[in-house]
Amino acid sequence: MNGPNRELLLAYLDDALDEMDTHVVEQELRASEPLRQQLRQLMQERDRGEHSVGAIWRRQRLSCPPRDRLGSFLLGVLDDDVQDYVQFHLQTIGCAYCLANLADLQTQQQDADGQVKKRRKRYFQTSAGLLQPPEKKKKG
Ligand SMILES: [Zn+2]
Repeated sequence: MNGPNRELLLAYLDDALDEMDTHVVEQELRASEPLRQQLRQLMQERDRGEHSVGAIWRRQRLSCPPRDRLGSFLLGVLDDDVQDYVQFHLQTIGCAYCLANLADLQTQQQDADGQVKKRRKRYFQTSAGLLQPPEKKKKG
């Protein structure tokens, strides 16, 4: 069995995994002393390499909310603390990756809105057509 790989452990250290993955990693850590050693080693490496561009990039990318969460953020349907986190990530950290993703999602949502409105309008016109009394035939 391979166990979680290095990136997964790093993501675990950054608290960037979802509940399911976190649970899996924790189970494997409990079961495996070599894995715990690997984790300790990674923590030390991380402390030493904390300020390398690569480490910062990876840390920031891994802390990015997933795209569906950005979508929920736009809709304002997230729990308050999650909403705050995403806002912090976008506004304070200014993550270019997520801002680009957000702009893309915004465009999509606007398109979707537009289509719904168009559909509604068409439906309304069709219904209105049905509700109009039939034209009277001209008497000849
Ligand atoms: Zn991001």
